Amino acid sequence: MENIKDYVARKKEELKALPLDAPFKKPKIVIVQVNDDPASNSYIKGKIKDLTEVGFLYDHIKLPESTKESELLNLVDKLNRDDSINGFIVQLPLPKHINEEKIKLAISPKKDVDGFNPLSRIVPATPFGIFTYLKDNGFEFRGKNALVIGRSNIVGKPMAKLLLEHDMNVTVVHSKTSKKDMNFYLKHADLVIVAVGKEGFLSNEFDINENSVIIDVGINRGEDGKLHGDVIPNLNVKYQSPVPGGVGLLTRLALLLNLCEVTKNEF
Ligand code: NAP
Repeated sequence: MENIKDYVARKKEELKALPLDAPFKKPKIVIVQVNDDPASNSYIKGKIKDLTEVGFLYDHIKLPESTKESELLNLVDKLNRDDSINGFIVQLPLPKHINEEKIKLAISPKKDVDGFNPLSRIVPATPFGIFTYLKDNGFEFRGKNALVIGRSNIVGKPMAKLLLEHDMNVTVVHSKTSKKDMNFYLKHADLVIVAVGKEGFLSNEFDINENSVIIDVGINRGEDGKLHGDVIPNLNVKYQSPVPGGVGLLTRLALLLNLCEVTKNEF
């Protein structure tokens, strides 16, 4: 498998070279933020850096935490109808007084770069980034066994759906799965996607197939102040994605790919 940093750099060069100028146009995205949360600020900074690097256009609308749900819905409605942009995203989490599901459903599938609306053809960035990386590296999906650990709406569920759509035999496990069953599935898995949110969750304590490819989605701030994955480093497997420098980069790349996708759909 290609080093993820090199892979992402190569894909960005391809995006820079896309013939999106006249008669086409450069993709334009609006990033809506409704807080001043340090994590959101840092994610958005990363997104803006990527957009600038590949020459795509953006606007960043930063609203105060006190924004009412009706005000955000009005903005979403305005952006849905704004022909000067190709798509937009609403950065999560939203303040507690705003119903996230309501906002997600209000985003037009045509402009939904994050794939939040269930009617959208766009796959959420993390599963899509992982899938694209595996596909571009020649991973054979058909008839192979995938184990997805974690069933969140943002990672586990859309990941499982995408792998199933590409003919894998998919098992999803979660916090109520016994260790005995987890070992059984791990032993038979060709691909393991770990999205649990617990540092070092997957370790040598489990019965892991040495021929498996392990994708570590976890981003956990350790006691040492550094970022750690859900998987302990250097397992004896065919491939294990690193943290940091792994799925986080693929997720950022997927946002650019998804923006291209909604842009192309307009032509
Ligand atoms: P989440 O919503 O908290 O979901 C965690 C899932 O893990 C739940 O389905 C939970 O099961 C399951 N789980 C918890 N303990 C378990 C156990 N002992 N055994 C098996 N399953 C267990 O988290 P998320 O949003 O999916 O995120 C997961 C991790 O990925 C986090 O570290 C997050 O920061 C990271 N992440 C990274 C990126 C990226 O770009 N790299 C993107 C998104 C998320 P239940 O459903 O039964 O509770």
